[in-house]
Amino acid sequence: MLKNFKHKTLVLLFFVSIITGCSLQEEPLPEASSDSATSMSNAIVSITFDDGNADNYLIRQALADNNLHATFYVVSGFTGSAGYMSLDELQGLYEDGNEIGGHTLSHVSLGDVRGTDLQNEVCQDRANLMDFGFEVVSFAYPYGYYDEESMAAVRDCGYTNARIVTGGPQEFQWENPYELKAMPYVVGDTDVAKLKRYIQEAAHEDAWAILTFHHICDYCDKFSFRYDQFVELSEWLGEQQHYGLKVMTVGEVIGGEVQPAVLP
Ligand SMILES: [Zn+2]
Repeated sequence: MLKNFKHKTLVLLFFVSIITGCSLQEEPLPEASSDSATSMSNAIVSITFDDGNADNYLIRQALADNNLHATFYVVSGFTGSAGYMSLDELQGLYEDGNEIGGHTLSHVSLGDVRGTDLQNEVCQDRANLMDFGFEVVSFAYPYGYYDEESMAAVRDCGYTNARIVTGGPQEFQWENPYELKAMPYVVGDTDVAKLKRYIQEAAHEDAWAILTFHHICDYCDKFSFRYDQFVELSEWLGEQQHYGLKVMTVGEVIGGEVQPAVLP
């Protein structure tokens, strides 16, 4: 029955294609949008949020409406406390296809903790997030601080990758997935035009633009981005996906198996 239906459909499509001169394949989309001279298909964008701030939840709908998935690096020790997202909110984001990553147990700079304290901050945080029900592969260094010992701790705790805060766009041939380069922090005076330029720069260089957000609010913090700006950016990113731009979580770009939790 299904086979017969499929056969008839194909025959019909064949004749339609002869009549209209169209191929059975989808029409190719234009190479670039009106405000971009470079093909967006050369770039990947990752939207990342640090700290798990409560105001981040405001943009859940904007992400979903535009078919975007972001990476939220969460401080598990702060989850549910004043100013931070609740577990329910994190689970809602995760169910939508967003990624939950680690950002230590108590937001310490990894240069200030060594040995078992370092292990505890990184491994216990990841174990907590795994206990919450998330598959956790991505990490972001608090304050962007990292060195050989902290990179090794992140790897040994089962993470497949870690993001720093400078040096972007990131090339696709990375030597070390534990120092993924990000575009400069989004700060109070960063506007949508600037973020578009970052992405166009990445497209020009065949590279990966990792954007780093902290707060979503009207200038409530030095590292904030307004809600209406985020909606505007999301709509633009949603549209650019039709021109080949890939918006992916960090974990999706890196790939690989999810390692079991490692207890400190
Ligand atoms: Zn942070």
